[in-house]
Amino acid sequence: MPELPEIETVKRGIKTLEREKIVGVIIRNPKLRYLVDSNLNQILKNVKVESISRRAKYLIFDMSRSKVPQGHLIIHLGMSGSLTLADNCKPLKKHDHVDILFGNGNILRYNDPRRFGCIVFTNNLIDNSLLQHLGPEPLTPEFNAKYLLEKLNGKSSSIKQLIMDNAIVVGVGNIYACESLFLAKISPLRPGRSITKQEAGLLVKCIKEVLEQAIKLGGSSISDYKHADGSLGYFQNSHNVYGRSGKPCKTCNQNILEKRLGQRNSFYCTNCQK
Ligand SMILES: [Zn+2]
Repeated sequence: MPELPEIETVKRGIKTLEREKIVGVIIRNPKLRYLVDSNLNQILKNVKVESISRRAKYLIFDMSRSKVPQGHLIIHLGMSGSLTLADNCKPLKKHDHVDILFGNGNILRYNDPRRFGCIVFTNNLIDNSLLQHLGPEPLTPEFNAKYLLEKLNGKSSSIKQLIMDNAIVVGVGNIYACESLFLAKISPLRPGRSITKQEAGLLVKCIKEVLEQAIKLGGSSISDYKHADGSLGYFQNSHNVYGRSGKPCKTCNQNILEKRLGQRNSFYCTNCQK
């Protein structure tokens, strides 16, 4: 599943489309998580993309300065989606569901075998139901020890589930949660309310470090991402605990434990993480 670092990589890879005009949209299969608006071609034709940003795992194409229509195009890659920059010569592949054609000859091509992603145009970004209830971005100053501690106050759920909760902080997927907790030496099973101020500070620092490192390794172009096909090829070699069940801990040599926790597999070292 593409995670925050991959989406950040995609965003950087398609920055060249900023200030470019959309000249058409081709929908081959509208049946994504939400049905793609059949009028999207009419809505977006001749509209200039002012900027491309990311919020959580949503890519946001800002068209708010265009006269008609004012709004934003939101793209989410779901479980298996990918975006590539193509040109007219590139043959179509299976699951290439949507093409957005740009005036500079580029085609932004959306491919998604499992079709859990979405492509949605909205006139009201602030009140949009997809974005409304999201917590702060992990790499901003807004996500800090004081904030996290407040959110953990009185919570009996495990710290791992809490940091993976998008309403608390966005973009900390399973891999990043496991790796951050290992670096912070905190057991994923600890109830949120048991985390001390010092531990919260360390955990915030580790989450930022792990995500920044993953972004750094995520490739610097969209074609790098394409090859990663959601399997996180670049980051996975540097995992300390994720996917290393039964293998020796890189710090203490004790075997890494795998445990099911709230539908997701957690990997951790019972010796290093307390
Ligand atoms: Zn260990």
